[in-house]
Amino acid sequence: MSSQLDIRHDQSLRELNTFGIAAKASAYSQVTGVDELRLVRDDPALSELPRLVLGGGSNLLLTRDFDGLVLHMSNKGVAVTGEDEKSVYLTAQAGENWHDFVQWTLALGYPGLENLSLIPGSVGASPIQNIGAYGAELAEFFHSLKAFDFQTGQILNLFKSDCRFAYRDSIFKHELCDRAVIIEVTFALPKRWQPNLRYAELAIELQARGISEPTAKDISEAVIAIRSRKLPDPAKLGNAGSFFKNPVVSREEHARLLAKYPQLVSYPQADGSVKLAAGWLIDQCGWKGKSLGQAGVHERQALVLVNRGGASGGEIVALASRIQAEVRERFDVMLEPEPVVI
Ligand SMILES: Cc1cc2nc3c(=O)[nH]c(=O)nc-3n(C[C@H](O)[C@H](O)[C@H](O)COP(=O)(O)OP(=O)(O)OC[C@H]3O[C@@H](n4cnc5c(N)ncnc54)[C@H](O)[C@@H]3O)c2cc1C
Repeated sequence: MSSQLDIRHDQSLRELNTFGIAAKASAYSQVTGVDELRLVRDDPALSELPRLVLGGGSNLLLTRDFDGLVLHMSNKGVAVTGEDEKSVYLTAQAGENWHDFVQWTLALGYPGLENLSLIPGSVGASPIQNIGAYGAELAEFFHSLKAFDFQTGQILNLFKSDCRFAYRDSIFKHELCDRAVIIEVTFALPKRWQPNLRYAELAIELQARGISEPTAKDISEAVIAIRSRKLPDPAKLGNAGSFFKNPVVSREEHARLLAKYPQLVSYPQADGSVKLAAGWLIDQCGWKGKSLGQAGVHERQALVLVNRGGASGGEIVALASRIQAEVRERFDVMLEPEPVVI
């Protein structure tokens, strides 16, 4: 643990956000442990600055220079921290890369996180929007986390029920927003593992590979292959993954839409509500592959907005607003952005 603060001024954030937006932070520091967060809190000048906690910058849209302090989570370390009859417990520091962590668990022979392979970003950000993909969500494997509370200066130990996980949502987007900095996350991986093949495309990919009884590693490889085919690589084409959440509507609202649009792509939820495929709604409005300035909609995936080169955050917002307006006008459904807009 370090107890020094190395503050840099006018730090470029271009390489630190996957949209590749050019923006600067007036102050920036890497964080390798809780000590540095305490130093920030105890410093009268630094504690007054607006703060932005940064992981891999893969769920962020910067629309301006950040006039405040960027705290870049860089604490590293992974460990097996316990086991009981049902689970093995693994703990990773916030600054660890999510995908590397998933691969580490699989290499050790602990299945569970394979469906969440290749999601960009850090372990520390994974609980913020309860990351999910290919039929799995972080919450299923989450045990607890430690966070630094900027309000009280205390360490918070939060368990699953404390975090109020929901679809792309958690307490960190509400009460604990701008307050809790996640330091480390502990996962409980099941000793009795069952492959999760709920997602049809994944089952089809495994079938195509001639695999009928997949191991967790097989599933991870299939997920990596599908994602690499479908999603643009941020290193080549700036993006933040899905730009909009899939809207959830009531059963009645769904029936109204289905009567008008029999092709509507939707997924019934356990509580009776229905999730609509935002990508389908955008595609129907004719946006797939289109651009507005240097901001564009990806050719293969209408849910992904891309930076075609030198786009400003404002251009991406302008495109997103046009899409929202057209989807609302046509379907009377409001699309909500997934990334955090600064
Ligand atoms: C190509 C691509 C594909 C994607 N696919 C998926 C997907 O399938 N499923 C999915 O759920 N997401 C997906 N995403 C979104 C993104 O990968 C996740 O949201 C990821 O968890 C963000 O991690 P990050 O470290 O990059 O967070 P950042 O973008 O750095 O930060 C996101 C938010 O979390 C906050 N934050 C970050 N770290 C901490 C911390 N330690 N403590 C407190 N707050 C913190 C930030 O302040 C910010 O508000 C995708 C993104 C891309 C670019």
